[in-house]
Amino acid sequence: MHILLMGPPGAGKGTQAAKLVEQFHIPHISTGDMFRAAVKNQTELGKRAKVCMDQGKLVPDDVTIGIVRERLAEADCKKGFILDGFPRTVEQAEALENIVAELGLKLTCALNINVPAQELIERAVGRRICKKCGATYHVKFKAPGKAGVCDICGGELYQRADDSEATMKNRLAVYDGQTKPLIEYYKKAGLYKEINGSQPMDKVYSDVVTVLHG
Ligand code: ADP
Ligand code: AMP
Repeated sequence: MHILLMGPPGAGKGTQAAKLVEQFHIPHISTGDMFRAAVKNQTELGKRAKVCMDQGKLVPDDVTIGIVRERLAEADCKKGFILDGFPRTVEQAEALENIVAELGLKLTCALNINVPAQELIERAVGRRICKKCGATYHVKFKAPGKAGVCDICGGELYQRADDSEATMKNRLAVYDGQTKPLIEYYKKAGLYKEINGSQPMDKVYSDVVTVLHG
């Protein structure tokens, strides 16, 4: 299972990836998570990525492709992976094609989680993440038992700096301009599958599993 999880920011890629990891025990590779870890650790990569992330822009292709190339070469990716948030440009998709071929792997499908723009802003602005274990919540759609506290590990929940309404508008514009063309790209490649993301999380997941088995 070498799966791409596509969709606009806030569509539910991370949420669905977490469920897939639980069921299929394959690595979840989120470029957004990798960049956030680099920012937290104040590495050179993190300093470079932060400038772009804060403005809702994409990190340059060469940087992003480089970190994905390294990660996919690790042994745990042989049996499968869930790539979340990569590729986001046609250049990244072309690079991925080469990386996967060099590793002797084949992409299974590109799953696009489709959600209308007005819902995406509400999802992103209400998103909360556990500082300790990374679990994702939503103040309205997936509220923790105790406000601000992770149900799983008791860690403190935080809001991503780029989950403001203003930055989200930029991220959606970037999505429309640079990432949306990948829908045609993967249709042409015969890998494209669409999921209706405007449904309760568990229903979205059962649709994901149905598509994967189909
Ligand atoms: P992405 O990884 O695509 O940016 P997330 O999985 O982090 O998106 O989801 C964004 C926010 O929307 C989170 O707060 C999450 O809890 C919430 N969410 C995810 N899926 C759904 C859904 N089907 N219905 C309502 N809210 C959702
Ligand atoms: P995400 O967690 O997927 O919402 O990504 C958060 C931010 O990280 C994005 O707004 C970009 O600035 C950066 N980022 C994540 N993935 C990529 C990618 N594939 N290409 C370029 N930038 C990315």
